Amino acid sequence: MSVFDRFRAGLARTRETFTARLEQVLRLQPGPEYYEQLEAALVQGDVGIATTQAIIAQLRARGDARDPASRHTALREILRNLLGPAAPLHLDPPPAVVLVLGVNGSGKTTSIGKLAHRLRGERRTVLLAAADTFRAAAIDQLVIWGQRVGADVVKHAPGADPAAVVYDAVQAVRSRHLDVLIVDTAGRLHTKVNLMEELKKISRVVARELPAAPLERLLVLDASTGQNAIQQARLFHQAVEVTGLILAKLDGTAKGGAVLAIGRELGLPVKLVGVGEGAADLQPFDPQAYVDALLPEVRW
Ligand code: GDP
Repeated sequence: MSVFDRFRAGLARTRETFTARLEQVLRLQPGPEYYEQLEAALVQGDVGIATTQAIIAQLRARGDARDPASRHTALREILRNLLGPAAPLHLDPPPAVVLVLGVNGSGKTTSIGKLAHRLRGERRTVLLAAADTFRAAAIDQLVIWGQRVGADVVKHAPGADPAAVVYDAVQAVRSRHLDVLIVDTAGRLHTKVNLMEELKKISRVVARELPAAPLERLLVLDASTGQNAIQQARLFHQAVEVTGLILAKLDGTAKGGAVLAIGRELGLPVKLVGVGEGAADLQPFDPQAYVDALLPEVRW
């Protein structure tokens, strides 16, 4: 399967409902009903009210094209512009550090495993740090991923100071001349204040020990949680400046339109998307491929 086919397959559920509905609406003649239905279709696809209104305003501003093909092309262009340019990870020059943040259950550990697999495929050496010391199961899960993808894991006993784990991992990266350190962090949101302080502390340790290293702070969001994900993101972004998003579980939702709203409303780039549970199911987010999968060019 090509990368695009895999991505397209990951969006299958969104395409079945959201895309099908959009294409139906685009066939209506422009008028109040057309715009109402378009709005409803976008909101239902989890594009979010604010982003939906921005899209509709742009469509109106272009004037009411009579033929559906022109409206279809216009919508494709608007969506493409909304997404902005592709945002690759900054990992060079090595060593680089990737802090991975997110609430429990968002898909954080799986995304780390998949990212490590991808980087190993690029012939980079990877070290994982199990800094979610709160959950023993999280440490075990990371160790399993490490074995699968060929990456060592730095871990302490459950309950240990996460910043101490990160400190040790940084020393290992230095002494072994490794390329990328990926740090798994805790995500227990019910102790919000403590968690945010812990993340800040980890961030400080990295900045102090590897001041010149490229540093990504990636927030993992479950694509199916839509507007809720946006609230979570604001919280994390306030604590540690997030550099990009990983949108996990895009394959599990019919609300793939969330990609449009989340990036725009937070002003943060979607850098990677998860489209399945396998090691190869994490892809750099390609805005053009997304639009092509969501609203393919059609011959009318
Ligand atoms: P964490 O608590 O944030 O570390 O979450 P996990 O990484 O343990 O993921 C929670 C669940 O979501 C697991 O069952 C994963 O297999 C699943 N998951 C994670 N990412 C994806 C994805 O992109 N697609 C699908 N279908 N499932 C995913």
